[in-house]
Amino acid sequence: NVEVRGLAKRFGAVEALSPTDLAIEDGEFIVIVGPSGCGKSTLLRLIAGLEEPSEGTISIGGKDITHAPPADRGLAMVFQSYALYPHLTVAENIAFPLRVARLSRAEVKDRVTAVARSLDLEPLLARRPRALSGGQRQRVSIARAIVREPQVLLLDEPLSNLDTELRVRMRHEFARLHAQLGTTMIYVTHDQLEAMTLANRIVVMSEGQVQQVGAPIELYDRPASLAVARAIGSPG
Ligand code: ATP
Ligand code: MG
Repeated sequence: NVEVRGLAKRFGAVEALSPTDLAIEDGEFIVIVGPSGCGKSTLLRLIAGLEEPSEGTISIGGKDITHAPPADRGLAMVFQSYALYPHLTVAENIAFPLRVARLSRAEVKDRVTAVARSLDLEPLLARRPRALSGGQRQRVSIARAIVREPQVLLLDEPLSNLDTELRVRMRHEFARLHAQLGTTMIYVTHDQLEAMTLANRIVVMSEGQVQQVGAPIELYDRPASLAVARAIGSPG
């Protein structure tokens, strides 16, 4: 499980995340929603270890990882900006986490092929990121995150640049991954349909604070505030 206690982040005078408690069970699919600037990415980046918290602790599987290096946290992240290595090919980008983990050449090849197939990336494996469309880059970044089958997968608006058809397919792909691997998913989106269909529980944030946490239907039927109703598209 992933447990966050009193976690807060300030950037100078800006309180990006106010002290926050959140307990996520193994294998849950958590979707975080809320308006732009409310602290969603900050929360994910803190869990990933890409930001140092101002206060509070983070543990995974009962182990305190508040100050552990990102690579030791047993998680992977898909960024809003993809963050691919420009000098590496698509195949090398996807293989990168496996090389770091020192898997054999044959195993790396097998896994990269399987993941590339599931995301329709096979024809693109020899290209470099600059020769890809936005949606293709996004799929490469998803492939790189899932290739090691992490315990916890953090996704920051992973489908925002894809066309409708691909969004639908990727949504099913995430649901399948979650069902097959039992990966704990923490997923940020602005898309109410993604939130309602993928989440076991939705976390609604506004202004650096968690407003309400609950099953999609619960929040839809009984939003605690107007901000929550807005965020999940409930008539209120
Ligand atoms: P969006 O939906 O637009 O991606 P978000 O909910 O992910 O928004 P965050 O990126 O977490 O929002 O930002 C929360 C607040 O913290 C914003 O006010 C933002 O300007 C501020 N912030 C984020 N990162 C930094 C930084 N490195 N330095 C200063 N302020 C930052
Ligand atoms: Mg963000």
